[in-house]
Amino acid sequence: MNKEYLKKAQPVVYQMLSNALKNQRVANAYLFHGPKGSSKLETAILFAQSIICEHTDNDGFACQECESCKRIENEESLDYMIVSNDRIKKKDIVDLQTFFESTSAGKQNARIYILDHYDKATPDASNSLLKFLEEPSEGIYGILIADEKSNVLPTIQSRCQAIHFKPESCEHLLLENTSEENAKMLAESGYTYDKAIELLSLPDFEELKQIALEYIEHASSFSQIEKMQTNVFVNKSDRMNKDWVQLWIQWVLFYVKNDRVNLPLEKKVKLYSILVENMDMLYRPVDLGLFMDKLYYDIRKAVI
Ligand SMILES: [Zn+2]
Repeated sequence: MNKEYLKKAQPVVYQMLSNALKNQRVANAYLFHGPKGSSKLETAILFAQSIICEHTDNDGFACQECESCKRIENEESLDYMIVSNDRIKKKDIVDLQTFFESTSAGKQNARIYILDHYDKATPDASNSLLKFLEEPSEGIYGILIADEKSNVLPTIQSRCQAIHFKPESCEHLLLENTSEENAKMLAESGYTYDKAIELLSLPDFEELKQIALEYIEHASSFSQIEKMQTNVFVNKSDRMNKDWVQLWIQWVLFYVKNDRVNLPLEKKVKLYSILVENMDMLYRPVDLGLFMDKLYYDIRKAVI
């Protein structure tokens, strides 16, 4: 994460974390919460690096260059664990405890875990975590991340220091790196600055966007659907993964929203709601092949 960016985008968060680091008053558990698109995860990783790094800057933040920082970035550190499942379960928390127990022998240094999407954790996971939080082991620090603070159990909340992230739009900053259209779509879709930069660097990014535009201009044609099935999202191919499917739906949504398709309002509204509903479904376990086939036909029905 770009520290200068964090300082500008989330000055209050930056100051609070800087004070904790500089004064060695890091709490045992944090709850980073705030809307989608705010750099909660990126900040959590930087904070984890900062607790361990021995070459911190004047504000107490990690150098991001030393071996310890790199190991955290690459998830190779034995002092660090991140769980980023869509839905954290009891087993994830048990695994986390086991991981720290097995790596703790003789360790003096700090160890940190991050639980992403914690607002979607199961109640069983929260009960296990609660026990972990109630008896904090020295030197173990946790960072829970949630879009919706109210979806985190109050008993968990009360054991964490809450850090609120304000809404963030990276559109303006992205303009330094890409076209107006790309910046607008990525910011409106709720990507953080770091994630947007990562997506922009993928070799197929521009191609996928072209594919989405061509598709939506001919969404009623069976040959267009066939083309998608045989050339774009081919079963078991590399592109048939949730990230690409999500990005493709986001481009289609963007073109519908920005009137790049010539449709009566009523059909446009229908199409819009189909796309939004399907985007939500992607958070659940789905067979992507069947999911896409149904989506093409639902879209076709909405536009004919
Ligand atoms: Zn470092």
